[in-house]
Amino acid sequence: MQIIKISPRGYCKGVVNAINIAKKTAMEHPNEKIYILGMIVHNKYVTEALNLYNIKTVESKGKTRLELLDLIDEGIVIFTAHGISQQVKDKALSKGLRCVDASCIDVQTTQEKVQEKLQEGYDVIYIGSLNHPEAEAITSISDKVHLITKPTEVDALHLSNPLIYVTNQTTMSFIEIGVIFKHIEEKYPQVYIEEELCSATRLRQQALIKNKDLDLLYVVGDPSSNNSNKLRDIATLHGTKNVRLIETAKEIKLEDLNVETVGITAGASTPTYLTNQVIQVLEKYAKDGILEVPEIELSKIL
Ligand code: SF4
Repeated sequence: MQIIKISPRGYCKGVVNAINIAKKTAMEHPNEKIYILGMIVHNKYVTEALNLYNIKTVESKGKTRLELLDLIDEGIVIFTAHGISQQVKDKALSKGLRCVDASCIDVQTTQEKVQEKLQEGYDVIYIGSLNHPEAEAITSISDKVHLITKPTEVDALHLSNPLIYVTNQTTMSFIEIGVIFKHIEEKYPQVYIEEELCSATRLRQQALIKNKDLDLLYVVGDPSSNNSNKLRDIATLHGTKNVRLIETAKEIKLEDLNVETVGITAGASTPTYLTNQVIQVLEKYAKDGILEVPEIELSKIL
């Protein structure tokens, strides 16, 4: 069995930065309560590993960042890599919380561009994922920001403003947004489109297309990670035969390994430790024919 380690894969600069900010905050304020508003990145092992630093993640499915803030009454609040709205920042400050912003620079750039265009009088069509914190931060800026999650939703848009700006969440699939851009352009030929995929997302997606002729592909990532899901979708769309999104090596199944080529990639929020475990398990299997999965040591995640 040939193992192809697809590159680039795994952690991006924004995720590394956010985790470093959280760890630094914990080291500088050992006696304070420290909370992260939502998952710092969408990976449950990162969340559990942050508990070892006494950093508590405040998350509840379906609750917005604004609502989650009701659950924090003291200490330091860290905003995640996905960006945060001014509304949430203001509410945190009014509650007397100290704020640390771990937003990725690429997400902030998109937010700033949207704000600029709104000030210039544009309506904004924003392509993103429903209930994703990055989309939440941008759609909450103004009711002139219209979230589109799939092509059919473009038909339901009724914009009379001749000024329309179109952009997207940084971690979408470049194929998916291309289709939606086309639909929007057909309906509103005058639109100004600015594609805002971050380079980490783009490069990881492009690498999959270069390596599409695999018998099996493992995408290591959390099921709630948008960029990991998009990696799976793109590989599937480009005809990679079997694509599996797995959180850890524990999900590798013996019956799947009767193949000649297996590829490995990982979402931008997936700890390198977890991806390396998958690689090591597959390498051992390729060498000895033994499927042996080690335990996960949380202390090695961050
Ligand atoms: S995936 Fe892109 S936007 Fe998200 S944290 Fe990484 S670099 Fe930033």
